Amino acid sequence: MVLKAHVSFLLFTPTNHRRDNSVSRSMYALLRRGSACRKLALSLSSSRSSVPTAATLWHQPACFSTASPAARSASAAASIRRVGIVGAGPSGFYVAKYLLKELGPSATVEMIDCLPTPFGLVRTGVAPDHPEVKSVQNDFGKVAEDPRFRFFGNVRVGQDVGMAELRGFYDAVVLAYGASEDRTLGIPGEDTLEGVIGARTFVNWYNGHPEYAQDEKLTTMLRDILAQPGAQAAVLGQGNVALDCARVLAKQPADLASSDICEHALEVLRQSHLTTMSVIGRRGHGQAAFTIKELRELSRIAGATLVVPPEEVAQGLTPFTIAELAQSRPRKRLADLVESLPAPSAAAAAAPAAAGRTVALRFLLIPKALLPDPARPHRVGAIVLERARLQQEGGEGGRVVAVGTGEMIEMPCNLVLRSIGYKSQPLEGVPFDNRRAVVPNRQGRVFVDAPAAPGALAAAAAAVEVVPGMYCTGWVKRGPTGIINTNIYDARETVASIVEDAGHGKLPTPSSSSSSLLDVLAKVGRKKVEEVVTWEGYRKIDAYECEVGATRGKPREKVIDAQELVRIATK
Ligand code: NAP
Repeated sequence: MVLKAHVSFLLFTPTNHRRDNSVSRSMYALLRRGSACRKLALSLSSSRSSVPTAATLWHQPACFSTASPAARSASAAASIRRVGIVGAGPSGFYVAKYLLKELGPSATVEMIDCLPTPFGLVRTGVAPDHPEVKSVQNDFGKVAEDPRFRFFGNVRVGQDVGMAELRGFYDAVVLAYGASEDRTLGIPGEDTLEGVIGARTFVNWYNGHPEYAQDEKLTTMLRDILAQPGAQAAVLGQGNVALDCARVLAKQPADLASSDICEHALEVLRQSHLTTMSVIGRRGHGQAAFTIKELRELSRIAGATLVVPPEEVAQGLTPFTIAELAQSRPRKRLADLVESLPAPSAAAAAAPAAAGRTVALRFLLIPKALLPDPARPHRVGAIVLERARLQQEGGEGGRVVAVGTGEMIEMPCNLVLRSIGYKSQPLEGVPFDNRRAVVPNRQGRVFVDAPAAPGALAAAAAAVEVVPGMYCTGWVKRGPTGIINTNIYDARETVASIVEDAGHGKLPTPSSSSSSLLDVLAKVGRKKVEEVVTWEGYRKIDAYECEVGATRGKPREKVIDAQELVRIATK
């Protein structure tokens, strides 16, 4: 009788009660009673019942033995059936990795990406001459080999399927779609002159992102500009992306030929007659955003000399900068390395007939305008920079900022790479903080500002409302900063929030009757399901690219045509 009562309770409990731990514990107590119960539990689990925790209860009985926090967390995690992750870059993969450690054996973690290939910035962002950074792909590959993992490539959320459909299908959706836009300077000439591009565009182009690598106009423009005798380039911004771009432009093509740089880019770089390149920061060397490893690499390029004007270094050594450097050993070492670089005049004197390239680190220069080349007025010919001095915002101890002095200089240049940071884009159906260009969240839980009740106090007006079942991680969560490993902490925090919410019955119950995402896509009808790339499909791409790469002495030759990628994956 007791058994019957409990079973009917389980069967007829509204679906949104299925994560209630008290229900789970009752179920487990029943399961302990004998094999009849065990069979029942397993049959419940294999049906599309709204009480699918039975199997996971059975597989993980220890979870329900007591009410210890660890046990509660395990039982909560076991109640999650399906999690969808939007974006297959490092931030998404770390969430998948830590989720799979928590979830039960019948749960799935499904990753959706607009590209037919996984790995996001590891594939299309990390510089080709940094293979050691790319090796993290092997770890992600292990995550993907888990039988509970699914990859759905070539599916664009917001176009092929909406957030509403995803939320109706998954217990939880994790946004891990990164930052796909550039921050902009907002100066004259930036949007109108040819030869001014975002560093993101350049990086995606040489790394084989189909949208950029297949852009014939871009390839032709870069070839034309770089092939001009005495061509000069400027990189605006001094982060690690700026140094990646500078290094790729400064290196001898032969030194890149055995990397996975795309052939179309290598072919353009082989024709390059670039002589000088300036990497320009608005603040001083004490505030530079690049790191010492990347700077050291730039200083050691065969056939290129890294220089720095000593007067710009001296101007950056304000008393507060010196005090700041004394507080941070890594920053001090970086500053010491900059200070040890030769002056442009000394470098020219040492190698007067230098056929090589000169890379100049320039400091305390604020970009003001981009001017046309008089000979080709549609193209950039120079950049106007205002000399700056450092100041502490709001007085002593404040953030160090660059303040214009009114003195302008004009620097000739044929190619300008704007490298002042990336920016996330809003996604339909997802709250977005336009000011910070991130998805508003607390510990990865997405929220919206709750409307203030009439007459509420100011503190109440600041209340936020969590969006049930919606989470975020990576650059959409914290902004576009940090290295690949920064995503580990982020992912752990987001996964902990998901598990905790499951434990408190706070995940909404999916309403979809679909059995797989392909089914959802078929119902939506905007994507041919036969064009969706699975993990097995990606493995075919991987094998093909490695095979072609091997014939050219490269680890891989990336396929840059999106349709060709899909064809290889789905044949
Ligand atoms: P970043 O590190 O944030 O650097 C942005 C640069 O742009 C800074 O020098 C900044 O100067 C400058 N900037 C911003 N607004 C500006 C403006 N209006 N005018 C002039 N300059 C401006 O960005 P990122 O280089 O795109 O890198 C993003 C993240 O990826 C970073 O955390 C980076 O370390 C990481 N990353 C790492 C590697 C690697 O480990 N090898 C490679 C690539 C990227 P201020 O400091 O004055 O604002």
